[in-house]
Amino acid sequence: MKNKYFSVLPIGGVEEIGSNMTMIRSEDEDIIIDCGMLFPHEECFDINYLIPDFSLVDPARTKNIIITHGHEDHIGALGHLLKAFPDLTVWVTTFTLHLIQRKLAEHKISMNYQMYTPGQELAFRNVDITPIHVNHSIPETSGLIVRSKDRKWGALYISDFKVDLVSKHELPIDFKTIKEKLSECVQTAYFIDSTNVMYDGKTTSENELQADLEHLMNRPENRLFITLFASNVHRMNAIAKMAKASGRKIVVMGRSLWTYMEAARESGHSEITADELFMADQVKGQSGKMLIFLSGCQGDFLSALRRFSFGEDGNFKPVPGDVVIFSSKVIPGNEKKIFRIYNKLTQFGVEIVTAHDHLIHASGHPGKEDLKLLLNNFAPNFYFPIHGESYMLRKHAEFIQKDFPKISAHTIHNYQEVILGEGTIKIEDHEVKEPRLIHGKSIEIEKTQISQRRKMATQGAVFVSYHRSSELMEVSTVGLPLMVQEQ
Ligand SMILES: [Zn+2]
Repeated sequence: MKNKYFSVLPIGGVEEIGSNMTMIRSEDEDIIIDCGMLFPHEECFDINYLIPDFSLVDPARTKNIIITHGHEDHIGALGHLLKAFPDLTVWVTTFTLHLIQRKLAEHKISMNYQMYTPGQELAFRNVDITPIHVNHSIPETSGLIVRSKDRKWGALYISDFKVDLVSKHELPIDFKTIKEKLSECVQTAYFIDSTNVMYDGKTTSENELQADLEHLMNRPENRLFITLFASNVHRMNAIAKMAKASGRKIVVMGRSLWTYMEAARESGHSEITADELFMADQVKGQSGKMLIFLSGCQGDFLSALRRFSFGEDGNFKPVPGDVVIFSSKVIPGNEKKIFRIYNKLTQFGVEIVTAHDHLIHASGHPGKEDLKLLLNNFAPNFYFPIHGESYMLRKHAEFIQKDFPKISAHTIHNYQEVILGEGTIKIEDHEVKEPRLIHGKSIEIEKTQISQRRKMATQGAVFVSYHRSSELMEVSTVGLPLMVQEQ
């Protein structure tokens, strides 16, 4: 690529939510931002997750990847990338490093890494990149300011954020550094989160949940259960502290919750000590006031929430008088699974409290008012919505065009390279590569094999074996209706 400055090429995450991966390309160097997984659509039969295609990664040009935060849609495919390109240096912060190392250890993958702190300028061959602190729903989330060495071009890349000016858990988004660094540039472009753009207002602060959560923790019932996104460490801290203050024992059920809690403790984000947390079997049969955290707020098949709701947990059975609090939202596509859980719990006489009843969930993504705050702090020349499905990207661009007419807003999709050139931009199309399909923990499946696998699973299979010595033929079937089997 011949460009004096740099370009931004999304490989994943622009026209779908997930598999975030973007390349910052310059004359003789490419830098990757994030490498996440995508959860499969319904037609991806028995596929565990999808990962971006890596064929544009050239090891001669690509030595570095910067991770913005620890959500699976940003780190979930990193193991696959490092298997293919083991010499890459991964730039991370402490909390995210703990999460990544746990995942990589399971697959026995090693990683060269470098730590960064927000505000620190990372000098690469043709660009300087400054990670800046932003608010989101997981600790240590960064946006990236990318600038050409001569400061002719500057770009702000924030795939996930919200503006939380009153958080008790972390600093507000670093508007000051954005303004300072980009003011030094002749031309500027933004690449910004579209996830919550359909919301006209300002995204709720975690602080605003305090009153309703506290009210719930003070309810008279002995057993309160609560489920939330496991990565929302700040909220878990807040809830655990309230539970402790109301005299409740804190129990944690579910591997994902323990994983995030341990990573939080190791990186200084935990506000609860290890001896204040109990495993379910440690309190089995005990009465008294408890708060039980359950993993699996999306109704995941093997989660603690589902196991409990179906009466299948060995330590806790649902009984009338129990209260289950959903401090979460229903991600589109998961409605059926979650409503099944609501129904099961109701049949057991359990009370359900959701974010429709109380203010107990806040998004981690910007509503229109958050975006206005970002743009009122510093308005760029060009603007590209990212991190969203096609419809959201379009709505996001329309909003900018209407409310900020001086900014030139464009929609792009994966494999469209935004070239920041001499005084203007150019958009160049690359051949679109479909995401790769992963079965189980790491086995890659070809797309054509999906329909074969579905046929075998839904229509059954026939196995014929012929014994040459005895000349016997054996026919066995799997999954065929009985009538067919008898024929
Ligand atoms: Zn995120």
